[in-house]
Amino acid sequence: MSAHLVVLSGPSGVGKSSVIREALKELPTTWLSVSATTRAPRPGEVHGENYFYVSQEEFTDMIANDELLEWAEFAGNRYGTPRKSAEEKLAQGIPVLLEIEVQGARQVRESMPEAVLVFLEPPAWADLEARLAGRGTETATQIQERLDVALKELESSGFFDHVIVNDDVSRAAHELVQYLQ
Ligand code: 5GP
Repeated sequence: MSAHLVVLSGPSGVGKSSVIREALKELPTTWLSVSATTRAPRPGEVHGENYFYVSQEEFTDMIANDELLEWAEFAGNRYGTPRKSAEEKLAQGIPVLLEIEVQGARQVRESMPEAVLVFLEPPAWADLEARLAGRGTETATQIQERLDVALKELESSGFFDHVIVNDDVSRAAHELVQYLQ
């Protein structure tokens, strides 16, 4: 498999999706993996585009059948990367980007040591709190849960090959593009 697998991790609310959206404008051939999740869709999210929304049973079957490249439990839901599509793209020489949390990034490091791991970090803790509260998609309890996890994730940024500070979306996206080329 080629060295074209890039993982973007970082705390919930740091702006991974916005940075990826910008980066992909510059790299139309890069393929962004669509994960499976047991989380319910947020308003406006589309099955097969944002995620494949599956039941607990379906997710358990995917694990049992070794259909996931990596998976993790995050804030009470399970998330995983479907193995087949990612491996097919890589075999075709198409760069693949995964947007996943830190436990998943560690699994990718083990199964695909050549993968490039990138961590997106907020310029300040207050930005994370403000973004999570501002998007209005989680309850206060869920926000607190995500912030607790974020603290642990920020501590693990040293594990990554590169750390990008999301002080400006276009600038951060441009930096990510460099790692995808
Ligand atoms: P959200 O519920 O906000 O969409 O995602 C919660 C967290 O799960 C985010 O940090 C996101 O990057 C991560 N995530 C999304 N898909 C996957 C996946 O396939 N595997 C892993 N390990 N994490 C994922």
